[in-house]
Formats: sequence, structure tokens, C-alpha cells
Amino acid sequence: MNDTHARLDVTRNYIGGEWVDPTTSATGDVFDSNTGDVMGSAPLSGAGDVERAVAAATEALADWRDLGGPARAEYLRAIARELEARHDHMAGLIAREVGANVAISTGSQTLTPVMSFDIAADIAETYRFTEPLGDNMIVREPIGVIGAITAWNFPLHLVTVKAAFAIAAGNTVVVKPSEVAPLTAAVFAEVLHAAGLPAGVINVVFGTGPDVGEPLVAHPAVRMISFTGSTRAGRRIGEVAAQKVAKVALELGGKSPLVILPDAPLDDAVRFGIEDLLLNNGQRCDGYTRMIVPRDRLGEVEQLAAELMSTRRVGPSSESINEIGPLASQAQKDRVRSYIESGIREGAKLVAGGPEDPDLAEENRGGYFVRPTVFSEVTPDMTIAREEIFGPVLSIQAYDDVEEAVRLANDTEYGLAAAVYSGDRDSALAVASRIEAGMISVNGGGMDIRAPFGGYKQSGLGREFGQYGFEEFLEVKALRLPA
Ligand code: NAD
Repeated sequence: MNDTHARLDVTRNYIGGEWVDPTTSATGDVFDSNTGDVMGSAPLSGAGDVERAVAAATEALADWRDLGGPARAEYLRAIARELEARHDHMAGLIAREVGANVAISTGSQTLTPVMSFDIAADIAETYRFTEPLGDNMIVREPIGVIGAITAWNFPLHLVTVKAAFAIAAGNTVVVKPSEVAPLTAAVFAEVLHAAGLPAGVINVVFGTGPDVGEPLVAHPAVRMISFTGSTRAGRRIGEVAAQKVAKVALELGGKSPLVILPDAPLDDAVRFGIEDLLLNNGQRCDGYTRMIVPRDRLGEVEQLAAELMSTRRVGPSSESINEIGPLASQAQKDRVRSYIESGIREGAKLVAGGPEDPDLAEENRGGYFVRPTVFSEVTPDMTIAREEIFGPVLSIQAYDDVEEAVRLANDTEYGLAAAVYSGDRDSALAVASRIEAGMISVNGGGMDIRAPFGGYKQSGLGREFGQYGFEEFLEVKALRLPA
């Protein structure tokens, strides 16, 4: 990994293939989540910068669209190779910006972006943009200029999954990365330059939601917004985009259940749930944050979960021996702690962890660490059962029969992911078919990167990844030809 203490100050936006001074002078500090020290900064741009970036994307659109899928695919593959070349540098930045431990920062955080570009290239190469339907011809065309607005928890992946599939489909893009973790978006812009991507195809403007995100959503030339973030911001983006009837794709929050059926191998099921929950220190929209278990096995589950959670080491994300790193920001730490306090206040049973700081070395006491925490006897009305916590906090809920298990699983405004564990595949599948969620793991099954990613209910609209994600970025035209 690169120098873990180097500072990175980004001073300009990447617009029209060049680094351009922002129209504003303000900058935002970026904090090292392991220490609380400033590790860099990025511009806090304004509406004028959005204007320039949208103009550049608009200018680049016709040539990029007309290039065709196979020629676009070559650029995508070049980007993938340039991303690979900067893998260690980006992993080091993400470990510090977000607190992702070595396994995640060098794994899914930085490998998925490469796969996104390679898979999008495969699709662009072979996709049939035109096909006959009776006497008509159905043509799929790029939508136009896409605004991509992203969250901080997977800062590089969220930018690249949008950009890769949007440009593969022939669109051009203006990215607004999270102001909490903007640094890898600057390295991504370097990647685009090194790969020789034509000017204006992808532009990056740094800044906040109100000052850059909202002008981007409202801009009349932006024809679609692809957003990942909170349901609160997603609702606002939907409102603004509705004024010009622009398409929105929303990847929002989650409160995903893991239903453990009475015949499940308990050890495996609980271990699966905890390991999933702790990935990226619980800072995941699709983590299984509610464990729904048979009441007569509650004691065993509590014991297993408490043991698995409290034996995990908490410490700096740069050290591979530490399995749980810090959260991304002081605000996130405060938020997670206040949820732990609300669990205690509202009468849930604390079986591991708690709101106090974990034991840490002197140099990490300013970092954003929390104790991995397990609550049991959580009832559906409690705040920790209903709201997204986005940290290493598990809520265990007990059921008396499978009907109640399904009811509890669906008793949420979210519907992003779920998991079902049973000794019998068919029983697990039967329960999975009744859960309202976009992605369901059956008996420990994992994600296929080409499969659609997205949620039901207030977890969002649309899908990312693979062909489903690619098609989100296409319009459909019916050409009516004479018989
Ligand atoms: P957030 O909603 O605060 O911010 C996300 C992005 O939106 C940021 O870039 C922010 O600047 C911008 N933004 C905020 N208000 C805006 C507005 N009014 N107009 C335009 N842009 C605006 O979310 P966050 O704290 O960065 O991320 C955490 C959230 O993201 C969690 O709720 C999590 O579940 C969600 N998330 C969802 C997925 C998914 O795929 N479903 C993946 C990762 C994170």
C-alpha cells in the first residue's frame, strides 16, 4: 500500500478533459477516520461549475453516442487497466477516508470498479441496440447527459458503477462524488485522462449536495439522475427531477432481515449474518442488520452472536490483523452511538458492545471507532428495528411461527436485501418468494456481480450492475416501418 500518511489536496474539478479551477474558493477538509486528522481536501464548487460540466458533457455527447458499442468498449477496457494500475493507492485512500479494513479496501472497494468497466465493456461490445418487432424496429438509444451523485461508503465503486454503465450505453456523465470521501474520485479523473477517454465524456465536480448536487439535478440539459445515498436525499432528488420529468434511478437505504428458519444450522446461519453485517464496518446499505430467529432458540443465538461480535478486534483499518475499522466520520460515529443509546433507552436487551469507546492505542483515540454491538428482544416499534443505523449494530428479533417471521421481515419501509437460512433449500426458497426485497441470499448464497442490484419499496427505483444496470441508461424508440 502507498504511504499511509500522505496528504492529498484536490484543488480543481475535471471538466471537458481538463483540470479546471472552481468558480468558488471554498474547500472541504477530508478526515482520516483512524485518527481524526485532516488527510486532504477537495473543492466546494458551485452552480457555475455544474454549468460548465454539463456544457462539456453536452458537447461530447453526439460523437460518443455515434462511436458505437464496440469502439466505446475499447475505452472502457483502457479505463479498467488504468484503475488496476492505481489499485494500491486507491485502497490506501479508502482505508483512511472510510475506515474500510485491508480485506475490503483492497478487495471489493477497489476490485469491483475494475469489474464494472470490464463487464460494461463486454455488454457494449455485444448488445443489440436494434431489433425487429413485427413490422416495427425497436431501437435503444442513450438517454443523454446523466448526473451521477454518490454516497461515501464505497466511494470509488459507487462512482464507477454509474459511470461505466452510463458511458457504455453511449451517454455522457457529470459525477458529483460525496463530499465526505471525495479523494478517489480525483484519482478516477486521472485514470480517465490516462486512458485517453474523449474530453467531456465523464466530468467530475466536487462539492456538497445543496450547492452542486441540487443544481445538477435541476439542470435542464441533464436527462437522468443516477443517485446513491439516503432515502431522505433520494426523495428530494425525485421531487426536483419531477419538475422537468427527468428519469431518476435511486439506490437508497435498507434495513435488511436475515430470517433463520427453525431447521437451520444455527452456527452457520449466525456466523453468516455477523460476517455480512461487519463488512465495511457495517457501513453498507444491504447489510443484514436484523436477525429474525425462532423464539425457542433465542438464547443460543444471543450467545453465538455476542461471542462472534466481541471477539472481533477493533483498530486501525490499515492493519490487517484488525477486523473492524472505524466509521467514516465523526457525524457517523455520533449517529451510530445515538442509535445504541436509543436501543438501551427503549428497552432492548444489550448482549454485546455498547455506546462506550473501544480500547484503542493513544494515536487512534481521535478516530471514529465504535464497539460492535448486539441487541436482542428487539420489537418492531423500536427505533433500532426501523431506522438504518449504518454501523456494526445487530438487532435480534424473535418469532413464534414462520408466518410471523415473514411478517417481521416485511415490516419495514425498506426492501433492499434479505437472507433466508434453512436446512432445506425449498423451504428457504418458499420464504424468499414472500419477502419484499430486491436481492435475497438463500442459505448463504453470495452476489453475482452481473445480477441486478437494487431495492423494492423505499430502498429505491431501478437497478445497477450487468445488463439490467446498462439498460437503465437507455431510452426505447419504436420505429414504425411500412409493412
Ligand atoms: P446522503 O444522502 O447524505 O448523500 C449522498 C449524496 O447525495 C452525497 O453526494 C450528497 O452530497 C448528495 N446530496 C445530499 N443532498 C442532496 C440534494 N438535496 N440534492 C442532490 N444531492 C444531494 O447519503 P450518505 O450519508 O452519503 O450515504 C449513506 C446513505 O447511502 C445510506 O442511507 C445508505 O443506505 C445509502 N446507500 C445506498 C446504497 C444502495 O445501493 N442502495 C449504497 C450505498 C449507500
